[in-house]
Amino acid sequence: MYGNTGTYDQNTQNYAMKNELELFNKLADKLFEAEKKQPVVTPIPPAQLFDEIDVSLGEKPAPDFEETLEKLILNTPRTATKLFFNQLFGGRNPKATLGDLLAVLLNNSMYTYKVAGPQVGVEKEILRNICNRIGYPATSDGTFAPGGSMSNFMAMVMARDTYGDDVQHQGITDKLVAYTSAESHYSIPKNAALMGIGRDQVRFVATDAAGKMIPEALEKLIAIDKEAGLQPFFVNATAGTTVLGAFDSIMPISAICKQHHLWLHVDGAYCGSVIFSEKYKHLVNGLELSDSFSVNAHKMMGTPLTCSILVTKHKEHLRDSFSNDAAYLYQTDGDDYNLGKTSIQCGRRNDALKFWTLWKSVGTEGLEAIVNQQFQLAAIAREYISNHPDYTLYSFDDSISVCFNYKNIPAQQLCTGLYESSELMVGYGTFQENEFVRLVTINSGNEGSDILHFFRVLEDFVDSNAAHLDTIHKPEELSH
Ligand SMILES: *Cc1c(COP(=O)(O)O)cnc(C)c1O
Repeated sequence: MYGNTGTYDQNTQNYAMKNELELFNKLADKLFEAEKKQPVVTPIPPAQLFDEIDVSLGEKPAPDFEETLEKLILNTPRTATKLFFNQLFGGRNPKATLGDLLAVLLNNSMYTYKVAGPQVGVEKEILRNICNRIGYPATSDGTFAPGGSMSNFMAMVMARDTYGDDVQHQGITDKLVAYTSAESHYSIPKNAALMGIGRDQVRFVATDAAGKMIPEALEKLIAIDKEAGLQPFFVNATAGTTVLGAFDSIMPISAICKQHHLWLHVDGAYCGSVIFSEKYKHLVNGLELSDSFSVNAHKMMGTPLTCSILVTKHKEHLRDSFSNDAAYLYQTDGDDYNLGKTSIQCGRRNDALKFWTLWKSVGTEGLEAIVNQQFQLAAIAREYISNHPDYTLYSFDDSISVCFNYKNIPAQQLCTGLYESSELMVGYGTFQENEFVRLVTINSGNEGSDILHFFRVLEDFVDSNAAHLDTIHKPEELSH
């Protein structure tokens, strides 16, 4: 090994890397085989984890490194299979995965052009295309954030800095107030806490029966706060709420924001990718009126985690809030190509390449097909549920979250049972007084038959476990 020669030898190092790539391919083959045979892994209870797999780190090199690694890989929950519906991501897009593997191999940091080179172009092209697509003017720009929660954080920071004269230096002195719907993501109050604005200064606006923010309720809350001498500064609208997948109506919310000079952010982490579909982009009508918008390509677009994009109409605010002079870092090339001037991190992994390899290879048409497929699968699921009297549907059209109950079995019990018996990975959620199973049709690698298979697995499980599921009611006993 090169370590023994005392001199750095690129050939020797790459030779070692080739061995690891061989091991990688071997492990990948084993994983693919396992995914085929058993789409849902047998879960290891947390109490047994450290006994089952030797994850311990010792003084000496582990003699069974490969075996342990294999065991670890093969016991990890399988998010790429056709029975994983548990989260707002799923599947494995080969082209996007290739891009991410290459990003790891290249190991650039996106802060400067000097270090990232043409990868800067990859990132800028994605951001420019998205800004143009949603109708932002030439003064727009964006960045890749370490997740949707952080995209929301950055948007709130820009709003705060825009409102306050000198918050960056003096700290917050006014009582700033943020508004978001009761169905929005938990990162909004969390970010308010992190930012020093405070959770208590977040107002949760009521939603209608379909889980959308009620604009009149927003207007009322703003009026009350202004009356009390508080300082409204930020409104978050959601494009795809986490549980129901509902889209807040941007137009009327924007009108209220304009009237009160409030920053409007649209959190499209879950379903903002509808911008790529001619058929579904109407769900975010008025998006061009927002001040900022975020979307997770690792959700609807199916890239590996994480791929979170934040764009804003106001390039200058992105720069004002996130640039810092650093003579040791920014030594060449203008600010426009030194992306560290607009990011929240310093060193930053290349999250753009995986989305670019996908987009470049399938074109925007291909991205549109991905989006449309998910809505199509959701429609198939809703139709199945509507046609089967043992089911109760809680979802609406134009959503890729399909929420339901089966034979009135408590959703939590059903989902946990399916997981523990390694039949199916699906989660549950609540809206108003109802708790239900939430089937997310986000894996566009699935086909209609896979969705029907989902229901079959669930029904078979209930049939063969009727004795253990404590409250199976006949449909006529349903309370709703
Ligand atoms: C997933 C999600 C987020 C958070 O994104 P992360 O990348 O998980 O931090 C924010 N908002 C909504 C609506 C989401 O669905």
